[in-house]
Amino acid sequence: MNAAQGLRLLCVTAHPDDESLGFGGTLARYAAEGVEVSVVVATRGERGRFGDGSQPHPGPGALGRIREAEARAACEVLGVRDVRFLDYLDAELDQVDAHEATGRIAVHIRALRPHVVLTFDPYGAYGHPDHIAVSQLTSGALMRAASAEPLPDSDDEPHQVKKLYFVAWTSRVWEQYHDAFKVMRMTVDGEVRSSVAWPGLVGDDDDRRSRLLGHGLDSSSVPPDPDGAIQCADSAHSGRPPGPVGSPGVLPSLQPCERRPEPRARRLRGTLLT
Ligand SMILES: [Zn+2]
Repeated sequence: MNAAQGLRLLCVTAHPDDESLGFGGTLARYAAEGVEVSVVVATRGERGRFGDGSQPHPGPGALGRIREAEARAACEVLGVRDVRFLDYLDAELDQVDAHEATGRIAVHIRALRPHVVLTFDPYGAYGHPDHIAVSQLTSGALMRAASAEPLPDSDDEPHQVKKLYFVAWTSRVWEQYHDAFKVMRMTVDGEVRSSVAWPGLVGDDDDRRSRLLGHGLDSSSVPPDPDGAIQCADSAHSGRPPGPVGSPGVLPSLQPCERRPEPRARRLRGTLLT
């Protein structure tokens, strides 16, 4: 029996595309090894950008459905078997009732019974309030899932997660990410926030990184292609209009995707670390 069989991993994210852009290499690698991988997404990203602005915006409801379908297609590429949505509104995750939200995530933790949970770091990767919120809510949910507290609409037994990991990138990884996609920057309460390398993680000192974090993962040779999953996040990251959701087979929005130049794709695959 494969050592990974019977092991379960849960990734809790804020938006469709986080599963690919933030965690894709990790999810694909463990899924390929036989770990049962699940993803819980807090929102449908309905307030995100749509293409390059040259196409009419379909409206939040339709964009949410498009992005949900893209996330499901991306998870299929990554080998994720179970994808769940929490139905919170994009850009409002930091304003939800924390007790209600940690309870809902805890219900999924008790149902899925993961050994390991992944989520955003407390900085939200680049200060995104939804990412910061999902990091806090997931951390709180682990405590509630493990407690004896009854949870709404759940008969599952309490469950103690063995390990909680935050995504943590070096400054070098961030540079490569910016080179491949764009500089991640947003203004919150008048202050500009941008990508945050984990404290002490400067440059490319992998030994130091391992000592600080206890765990590093190279996903550059993962069989399922995380870059293929990234291409599923088409509506928010390209100028191509997506096709109608619900079409049989592959999403129409995936078909015109051009593959990235191979050297950059390979380098990126090696940097999608957790
Ligand atoms: Zn996100």
